[in-house]
Order: sequence, then structure tokens, then C-alpha cells
Amino acid sequence: MTSNTRVRFAPSPTGALHIGGAHPPLFNGLGARHIGGSFILRIEDTDLARSTEEHERTILQGLSWLGLDWDEGPDVGGSHGPYRQSERREIYLRHAHDLVRSGQAYCEGEAVIFSVPKGRTVAFDDLVYGHIEMESDTLKDVVLIKSDGFPTYNYAVVVDDHLMEITCVVRGEDHISNTPKQLLLYQALGWETPLFAPLPMILGPDGAKLSKRHGAVNVLGYREDGFLPQALLNYLVRLGWSYGDQEIFSMAEMISLFSADDVNHSASRFDVEKLRWLNQHYLKTLDPAAVAPELRWHLARAGLDADTGPKAEDIIVALRERVHTLNEMADKARVWFGPLAGYDDAAVAKHLTAAARAPLQAAQEALAALQGWSAASVHDALNAAAQGLGVGLGKVAQPLRVAITGTQVSPSIDHTVYLAGQAEALRRIDAALGKLPA
Ligand code: GLU
Repeated sequence: MTSNTRVRFAPSPTGALHIGGAHPPLFNGLGARHIGGSFILRIEDTDLARSTEEHERTILQGLSWLGLDWDEGPDVGGSHGPYRQSERREIYLRHAHDLVRSGQAYCEGEAVIFSVPKGRTVAFDDLVYGHIEMESDTLKDVVLIKSDGFPTYNYAVVVDDHLMEITCVVRGEDHISNTPKQLLLYQALGWETPLFAPLPMILGPDGAKLSKRHGAVNVLGYREDGFLPQALLNYLVRLGWSYGDQEIFSMAEMISLFSADDVNHSASRFDVEKLRWLNQHYLKTLDPAAVAPELRWHLARAGLDADTGPKAEDIIVALRERVHTLNEMADKARVWFGPLAGYDDAAVAKHLTAAARAPLQAAQEALAALQGWSAASVHDALNAAAQGLGVGLGKVAQPLRVAITGTQVSPSIDHTVYLAGQAEALRRIDAALGKLPA
């Protein structure tokens, strides 16, 4: 393949961008970037009954969230939109009429139908499974234009892949059975055929076709479930392709190492635990500033106002060792937003005892005196307070943790206090002092 390689992703907007079908855009996009070729997006919206603008929007959102952008298309205010088959109807009609004129297709009512030639062997070599053959006698005639004037998938795909100069058709292997019909159409139209690379499907952990009952299937559903696009991309790429034993790939590495030769030949099973592991890896290793916009999105969904609470970057640093997903993170961060919702009885009974008065007061004094508020300055203030009392830091940290979070579990005490903010931390210590037995 060369930089003249042109590949495409051609979703039908009859549903969201489905995780089981996410390999085609990913591999097309990566493949094109790898060789400096072009990646084209074509919306195949000719099934009027099932296509909706809403589905198209979610597909585009899914691609954009994954960072898979396409290279060309009709101009829409400075950028390029996807090609849409519904906007290309005249082209399909024109070529269908050519086929009628040359006696290779016939009209039936408003519809135009291709007469499949008899006695032909349709053979092709695809890049994944090798040689495939089919007798044309086993095929029925192919509707090209339906009576509603719109083209069928098998016909429009041929016209477009030809006119868009697609050199390699990379798509789900569920289309292998359509390929012979499409080849006959290429031949009838006198066009050269592209290469075909059918991609194995993604299955659920039970080996059945991935579906809703396995959890989220919409790519954006993984966003809602708290995954980072970097993790999902890495996961998906590794699921259908391998490069030795390497598990972690940056986008740059995916692009530079990706090769169609290493695409798996068999379906792969979706393993959400592996995805969670990868997600935590990216939470821990990406620059917090890169993760922050995603966390803010989750905070907003959780009803937390990111503008008034602690900085998203600080939350990420405090919690990324403790969670696997961003919604777990947003949920744990709730404690630093607004007033404390309540106390855990066991935590209060254990730590907010009369013995906690001196440590809490010492912490309060030290924190109140702080000029610069940071996790590090909080750390020093609390150490100094503990030293002043001649006790270990734990004696101060335990009641303080309950005072700040209402519970006995939270990240390190310096982050826990820091994230509450100085004024709120002091208020919460006051409230805790008020709960101590006399
Ligand atoms: N619109 C078809 C689909 O979504 C595309 C198949 C192809 O890539 O040729 O399945």
C-alpha cells in the first residue's frame, strides 16, 4: 500500500457507532495515517425507513470522541462534512440507466434491477481470508434502484467506492457474502475492483455476537461508563491486531506500527476487565490536563459544578491510583463539592471521640495559619501539628479524615484536606469539633 491508498468508513445511520463495528473506522483511520493515504467518511443513508439524523449525529460524535477524523468531503463552512449517499442520488440513477441501456439491467415499475449473468464464477482474493469463489447462478438479480428512487446498499457502495477512488475496502466480515454481487456490478460497469479486507467481528465474553446484553455497545456508552478515548482505542486496536506482546500503544505508536498483515483472522472477545486495566493505566500516565476535560464532563453529569469545586487536575492526581473509571472518580470526588452530605456512624464512633479534640484543634490552627494552600503545604502543616502534640501523624489524620469526608476512607490526608479548600476544610473541622463528646 502506498500514500495513494484511499480507504473509507461507510456507516449506515441506522444505529449508533457500535463497538462491535468499531474496528473498521479504527483500522481504516490508522491504516490511512500509517501510510499517508486518505480516510473518507461516507454516510450510507439510503434506507429511508431506518436512517435518522440522530443516528448520524451519534456516529459523528463517537468518531470525534475517539479522535478519528476524516480527510475530505463536501465543504461545510470551512471544514469538510462526510459524504452522504442521500445527496448523490442522481449519480446512482445515471449509472443505473447506463446499465439498462447496455442491456445489463431492466426496469420493473419504478425500480431498476441488475440481471445477474449466468454461468460465471466470481472469484476474489481478499487480504484476510484469501481466495473466495462463488457461482453467479446461486445469486438472484440485484435491485439497484428501489421504487422510492433510492439506491440499494450493494449498488451504491460500488458506485461510490469507484468514484471515490477507494483502493482498499476495509469493512466488517459480515459483508463477505455481499462481495460477489458487488464484483459482478464492477464488471458490468467496466470498473476496476478495489482490494477487500474483511475484518473479524468483536464478540461478547460468552462468544456470542456483541450486543446490548453484554453492556454498552455504543462507543459513546463507553464514555458514559467512564472510559477514556485513549483506553478504548488502545483496547480495540489490541483486540483485533497484535504487535508482539505489546499491550500499550500511544496513538502515534498505533499509527506507526499498524499493519493490515497483523490483523487477527478470528473474532475476538470483549473483555471489560482488560479495558478497565487499560483505562487506569491511562488515568495514571496521561498528563492530568489531558484527562481534565473528560473528568469535567463526568462531574457535570454527576451534578457537580466543576467551576466552584476543586480543580479537575487536582482531583485526578488525588484519585487516579484508586479508581479505574472516570465515573468512579467523579463519584468519589463528590465529597469535595458543596457542604459535607453526612457522616458515617461507625467512623464517628471510632474517631470523633474526646481524644480527637486536641489533634483536630491543632490541625485547625495550623491549617488556618497557612498562606499558600497546596497539598504540600497542608502536608507540612499537619506534620507540624502532630509534632507539636508529640504524636504520630496518624493521630491527627484519622479524626481529620472523618471531619473532612465523613468517612474513614479517602486518598492521602494532605490531598483530602487540600481538595476541600481552606475555608471549607476549616468549616468541616469546626463541625466535627461540635460533634465530639464533652
Ligand atoms: N453501510 C454498510 C454498513 O454499515 C457499509 C458496508 C461497507 O463498508 O461496505 O454495514
